[in-house]
Amino acid sequence: MTPLTLPARPSGPDRNGLFVVSTHKVRDRTAAAPNQWVPYGTEHAWQPGTRRTLCGEFIGGWTVFWERRFSARPAAACAACVEMTLPEASRNRLDPIQSSASRAS
Ligand SMILES: [Zn+2]
Repeated sequence: MTPLTLPARPSGPDRNGLFVVSTHKVRDRTAAAPNQWVPYGTEHAWQPGTRRTLCGEFIGGWTVFWERRFSARPAAACAACVEMTLPEASRNRLDPIQSSASRAS
């Protein structure tokens, strides 16, 4: 049995974590990890077993970075996804994020 193009899924507690997903990927140009795929563009948070990012984007065709746990630190992190990772108490203090209905396409 040869696995197809599905990325290897880690077993154990990692399945409950949040991973980075992005619409595009590029080869890492740094010497630290040559030829490794890294996210390009906005980094969204995704939980294994779901079909959407935390902010509600359908991830069909997106790249899952199993080795990257979602973090709010990168500037590229999706603001809506970051908000969803916050505790409810702190979320309520924030103004609601406007849905990106005016997305250019
Ligand atoms: Zn997002």
